[in-house]
Amino acid sequence: MTKPQIKRGDQLVLASHNQGKLAEFQALFAASGVDIKSAAAFDLPEPDEDADSFEGNARIKALAAAQATGLPALADDSGFCVTSLNGQPGIHSARWGGVRQDFAHAMQRVHDEMGEATDKRAAFVTVLCLAWPDGRAYFVEGRCDGQVAWPPKGENGHGYDPIFIPNGETRRFAEMTDAEKNAISHRGRALRQFMDIYVAPDA
Ligand code: IMP
Repeated sequence: MTKPQIKRGDQLVLASHNQGKLAEFQALFAASGVDIKSAAAFDLPEPDEDADSFEGNARIKALAAAQATGLPALADDSGFCVTSLNGQPGIHSARWGGVRQDFAHAMQRVHDEMGEATDKRAAFVTVLCLAWPDGRAYFVEGRCDGQVAWPPKGENGHGYDPIFIPNGETRRFAEMTDAEKNAISHRGRALRQFMDIYVAPDA
């Protein structure tokens, strides 16, 4: 199947109510001339993310936004997957932070549940879904493999960044600048892949 491309002047809805993500996407798309619209601009509802995979949840969000607006829509779903915990917290990464999104607590839970495990492998994963109002959906995945380190360290980033050292690095994500993290992060990799495949180079 030929993959559709988004071109200069086209509108693309970002199916997220997160202002930080919107800014990140808008900056990335700036040079392409694609007109990024936020879900908030259309007053879109936030659908239940009740699928059992990153793909499934990204698809729910992208499709709901595409069908509500009649425009192509892009959604992402990410998480932190620890090998010795069978991939947990995974799609439950935000939920482990609880209603207060307390990631000191969520990181402690990762540490406690890992116990004496010698296998420290973990990965951050992002799946992006581009959906069209007619139901077509396309996916890209970005991942960043590394190790869980304890105790937490570093002031930058968010979520589980203070306990993750990417492979080939000595510092945690939380000790890197945004630019350093974006160059190797799951989200950076997924976004660059998406741009390469689905966004037409500016003429
Ligand atoms: P989202 O789907 O991008 O909102 O990510 C869901 C959850 O995964 C977040 O609430 C974080 O707990 C975790 N997460 C995703 N990306 C990152 C990251 O780059 N650093 C740390 N935690 C992350």
